[in-house]
Amino acid sequence: MKRIFQILISIFVLVWLNACHRKSEPAFTIGFSQCGMDDRWRVEMVESMNRELSFYPESSMILKDARWNNQTQINDIENFIAQKVDLIIVSPNESLILQPVIEKAFQQGIPVIVVDRRIYSSQFTAFVGASNYLVGKNAGEYANILLNGKGHILEIGFGPTSTPSIDRHAGFLHAINQHTGLHIDEYYNRNWSQEQWGAVLKDYLKKKPTSVDLIFLHNDRSANHCYKICKELGLEKKIKIIGVDGSVGEDLGLDLVQKGKINATILYPSGGEEAIQIAMKILKKQPYHKENELFSTVIDAKNVSIMLAQHQKIKEQQEDIKRQVTKIQDLTRIFSFQRNTLYLTLFFLLMVLSLGGVLFYLLREKQKSNLILEQQNHAILAQKNEIERISQLAKQATEDKLRFYSYISHEFRTPLSLILTPTEDILHRKSGDVKETRQAFQLIYKNANRLLRLVDQLLELRKVDAGKMELELQQRDLIAFVKEIVTDFNLKAKTQHIDLQFICPFKTLPFWFDAEKLDKVFFNIISNAFKYTPEGGSIHISLLKNIEKIEILISDNGIGMSKEEKDRAFDLFYRGNQNISLGTGLGLALSREFVCLHQGEIEVDSQKGKGTTFKIILPIINPSPNAEATEKVVEKPYLREVLEPKVVADTETLQLHDNTVVLIEDNQDLNLFLRKKLENSYNTVAVETAEKGWEEILKNIPDLIISDVMLPEMDGFSLTQKIKNDFRTSHIPVILLTAKGQMESQIEGTKAGADAYIAKPFNQQLLEEKIKGLLENRDRMRRRFSSEITNPSQIQKNERKFLVEFELLIEKNIKDSSLSVEKLSKELGMSRVQLFRKISALTNKNVTDYIADFKLLKAKALLKESDKTIAEIAYETGFNNPSYFTTFFKQKTHQTPSEWRNS
Ligand code: ATP
Ligand code: MG
Repeated sequence: MKRIFQILISIFVLVWLNACHRKSEPAFTIGFSQCGMDDRWRVEMVESMNRELSFYPESSMILKDARWNNQTQINDIENFIAQKVDLIIVSPNESLILQPVIEKAFQQGIPVIVVDRRIYSSQFTAFVGASNYLVGKNAGEYANILLNGKGHILEIGFGPTSTPSIDRHAGFLHAINQHTGLHIDEYYNRNWSQEQWGAVLKDYLKKKPTSVDLIFLHNDRSANHCYKICKELGLEKKIKIIGVDGSVGEDLGLDLVQKGKINATILYPSGGEEAIQIAMKILKKQPYHKENELFSTVIDAKNVSIMLAQHQKIKEQQEDIKRQVTKIQDLTRIFSFQRNTLYLTLFFLLMVLSLGGVLFYLLREKQKSNLILEQQNHAILAQKNEIERISQLAKQATEDKLRFYSYISHEFRTPLSLILTPTEDILHRKSGDVKETRQAFQLIYKNANRLLRLVDQLLELRKVDAGKMELELQQRDLIAFVKEIVTDFNLKAKTQHIDLQFICPFKTLPFWFDAEKLDKVFFNIISNAFKYTPEGGSIHISLLKNIEKIEILISDNGIGMSKEEKDRAFDLFYRGNQNISLGTGLGLALSREFVCLHQGEIEVDSQKGKGTTFKIILPIINPSPNAEATEKVVEKPYLREVLEPKVVADTETLQLHDNTVVLIEDNQDLNLFLRKKLENSYNTVAVETAEKGWEEILKNIPDLIISDVMLPEMDGFSLTQKIKNDFRTSHIPVILLTAKGQMESQIEGTKAGADAYIAKPFNQQLLEEKIKGLLENRDRMRRRFSSEITNPSQIQKNERKFLVEFELLIEKNIKDSSLSVEKLSKELGMSRVQLFRKISALTNKNVTDYIADFKLLKAKALLKESDKTIAEIAYETGFNNPSYFTTFFKQKTHQTPSEWRNS
């Protein structure tokens, strides 16, 4: 594309340059001042000039005719000077009078060519003309030939001021004088008109008709007039006539000679051609001659034909030239038209190309802007994604915070329950059992400490958030410090059978640090390790050091963390999927802040099921000037919470009660406390997870279930659902116990099928009332079931379904006299005890009674509605012996079957 464009531009420039070159032929303006134009000779001069000029088409000539007036000619030349023509050609009327204006033009730097008549000055550029002297001389010599050296001659000139006449006469005289037999009798040279000298000549010839042999006239026109006079006088044969000029045309020189009117004419060339040739040489600064004498010759009867033929030829050539010039002009016109067309075409081509270029440019620009738009789109998309990501993060943060608030409220409510409930208990108790009271206080104290720790952690977090947390550096022995913390956990390790070790190659290690903060860090990480390491595991703490830093590693072989848990372990409020009673998710976030304050780093490496290692890297830094060197005692109020031995239940001999309750609560203290309370009235099975709870429920088919909602792994809602969806357990009332006080939780709980809902911290009495109420309710229902076995519409949907299934099964096997509870429970996928408990819970009957009642109902129906014999009915309802059937029937209805049929 670019290449084509370049080629086209080059072509255009070449053509244009060529055109310029053609035009660059100089264009000159020549001013020609002609003294008169009424004679043929001068017209011929102008014609020949034009002919020659046609070879220089760019140059032009301005012609001025002075009509034989000196002043007019002076004005013409002055005008040429004023117009600043390039060159002036002057054919002067009277040389002397015109000389000053010619000199003026020359002095002003305009080249001047004088033609025909010379001036008497050297201030002109060139002269072109025939020599008049030579003309006269030629005439004299020819006269001698004509007269054979003897005779009388008359001569007629133009006047005393005419330079040609003067010169011609001189030449003529010189030639005549060479011959003694020749005499010029008269020389008329006045300013006479043709009539005037004609009259004088006529008179002379009349007076002396025989004494004139030859007349020499200074031009052919006069010669013709002279011939007419001679003819008039009958002397035309006797008197010879010589003229001057040799012009071509009717009654002009050559014509007169040819017709024999005159004997000869002396050729006096006009010099038009030559004048133009010299003018162009001057203008083009080529070499030229100042004096240019023209060829002159005698034309008589002998050569006149040749001269005429030559003239004719020239004329024809002139015509040819004219035609060719016209042709050239035509061609030039065609050429210039074609050239213009080419220019126009090229112009349009260029326009098209430029437009194409512009279009191409615009296209490129559009593509570019499209690209930019695309990039902007990408950027916007990226920004949108970023915004989405940030809003996701914000959402996550809000969710975390909300979760934190609900957890923290749980966290507050659980210890509060464990403070309030034993307090109430003490207050309501009439007799003060010291041991029990002490246990209650232990519980209260421990939970108050727990609350304190929670509040402290929250305050510290606020401080960190506000950037107000400052280090209080002291120089202490780091080894002793860590050892002391580890030692604090020894007892716990022992009770949980955990291998706790502190490995360190140094004895002492003085180090500047904020003891209170690092204490919290180590305490949290080690207590985390305890929380997530099951009994029999190991927790190893080791300390390494180089010149720049100290590394403390705390590793356990506990439950470990998933990738997500690991990545988010240090997030505020995050606590993985762990049992909520194990922590609040603040510990590690705070620990990281504290380590960062020491300009250190904390990292975690963990694998699910394999264990966790925390690495704390502390740079060895120089203390700031306000650091205290004295050791400060670090208060450790929370240690008690962790390290206080558990409140252990008394191992009293279990009393047997009517009802069994399964309790599921993950908070060990609350679990223990509730269990103790419940055991007073119910057989109590207490567990800490929903999974274990489910096992116990299936095993015992209890009369009531109490469960916490927030449990690790399976929560209380899911457990309730599971209970209510299983026909073995669906009849058991469920009380949900939770810190989640919000309405949604209640709704969720009800949806899951919970029978009651109690918010933490709860009133002990309220719980007891709820339990009692539910059990009584169930009893009422049971009574109703048992009395309405034929119409089970009142029974709850799930239960009804179970009973219908159960009855269908009996119906199917009713003829089978060996139908047993084992067989039925097997068919239902339950254990014998489960079936027994379920049926008795629902109907207050044992399974055998239930089957018997069913058989009775069927027998009654058959007795009333069929014609079957008693024996047949007995077999149909699974009695081997009709008499046994009758006994059974009578026992139940106090009527024999036949009595009943007829009643
Ligand atoms: P807090 O320390 O505030 O009482 P917490 O111990 O649950 O509560 P963090 O100490 O911040 O909170 O720990 C955050 C979470 O990281 C924990 O809930 C637990 O999921 C996980 N985690 C911490 N240490 C361990 C560990 N040694 N093994 C397994 N998981 C751990
Ligand atoms: Mg913790």
